[in-house]
Amino acid sequence: MVKSRLAPGQGLLYHIAAVFMNYHISQRAASLAPSMTLAIDSKAKQMKAEGQDVVGFGAGEPDFDTPQHIKDAAIKALNEGFTKYTPSSGIPELRQAIADKFKRENGLTYKPSQVIVSCGGKHSCYNVILATCQEGDEVIIPSPYWLSYPEMVKLAGAKPVILPTSDKTEFKVTPEQLRSAITPRTRLFVLNSPSNPTGSVYTPDEVKALGDICVEKGVLIMSDEIYEHLLYDGAQHKSVASFSQAHYEHTIIVHGFAKAWSMTGWRLGFLAAPEPIAKAIDAIQSHSTSNPTSFAQKGAVAALTGPQDHLKNWLAEYARRRTYAWQKFNGIPGVTCVNSKGAFYLFPNISKLGLKSAEFCSRLLEQEKVAAVPGIAFGADDYIRISYATSMANIEKGMLRIENFCKALTN
Ligand SMILES: *Cc1c(COP(=O)(O)O)cnc(C)c1O
Repeated sequence: MVKSRLAPGQGLLYHIAAVFMNYHISQRAASLAPSMTLAIDSKAKQMKAEGQDVVGFGAGEPDFDTPQHIKDAAIKALNEGFTKYTPSSGIPELRQAIADKFKRENGLTYKPSQVIVSCGGKHSCYNVILATCQEGDEVIIPSPYWLSYPEMVKLAGAKPVILPTSDKTEFKVTPEQLRSAITPRTRLFVLNSPSNPTGSVYTPDEVKALGDICVEKGVLIMSDEIYEHLLYDGAQHKSVASFSQAHYEHTIIVHGFAKAWSMTGWRLGFLAAPEPIAKAIDAIQSHSTSNPTSFAQKGAVAALTGPQDHLKNWLAEYARRRTYAWQKFNGIPGVTCVNSKGAFYLFPNISKLGLKSAEFCSRLLEQEKVAAVPGIAFGADDYIRISYATSMANIEKGMLRIENFCKALTN
């Protein structure tokens, strides 16, 4: 429409002006690193679109379809005209179903008013950080970390304080490490178990020990439990909120539908928090996104209240793929790999092969057409992240290529 009002040639002038225009980008935005996982994924997808035979180990999402009864509930809602604004923090029915889930599975009592439904677990994390952190505050994040945490902390004007861990401790921080990192400015400790990117799972005792310190020091815990249901080898998940009333009062649980129900594209996450924090987040969300998609929320109700038998099959399949890839990695000279206990990632150590992780992954993609994410994206340059949320056939093909690639590096 605007174009039709321009004189001939004016469009080009505008274009040139735009090229030379000196846009002011806010300090907040300019300080961010774009998501490297999404970048690798789009490069791999582009190569695929060009007809190249790419094996994708990059994506952090299940390869299974959303269960049919969940889709049906959303379709029904759509057909019945459930297409308008809902309460900003979610429909009462869903907030109740989430409160029931916490009671049933975690032994935790939350009122629906303490539950906020957001546009993905990522959005839930961001809401928590915005509601609790500001300029001058510090947030303790163990590395390897989910790459969005530090960037979200920076967006809130606060400072990420990284606690490095390695495969020697199964990527777990020790209570001593946590204690020595806490300062009077520490607001939040980020706990993510089962972990993305390492697949490591803290035992209940280890979770309690970390929680005890936060309670003692008056530090809040953001506990990202989105992989709660994806556990192997008898690993157990216990929420840090469940050890005592004090632990409960210091914890905000972040969760979502993306992983255990394979609903990444639906953009639905949730959190449970002490009432004053939930209230603050409710205000933030009411002025930023408003409600998550109305009919998607109806699908989420079905996800929580309907049958859960899909999970058993998915877990058996993940476990099979995990064991295969883990054994293959440990058979490659120069590579070592801790087996994961949860989520759907392996985090092999490639430091003996002589390449930095970004160089390793970029050459692996170009030479062998395998997409993996460099560990540097998660704050750990000695490793790469492999997602086994892809078919066994892909894993067999991809592991063979990785083996060839690594052998060529050491020869
Ligand atoms: C996938 C994931 C989330 C949430 O993802 P959404 O798609 O935004 O629901 C949160 N935390 C971790 C660690 C994840 O891997």
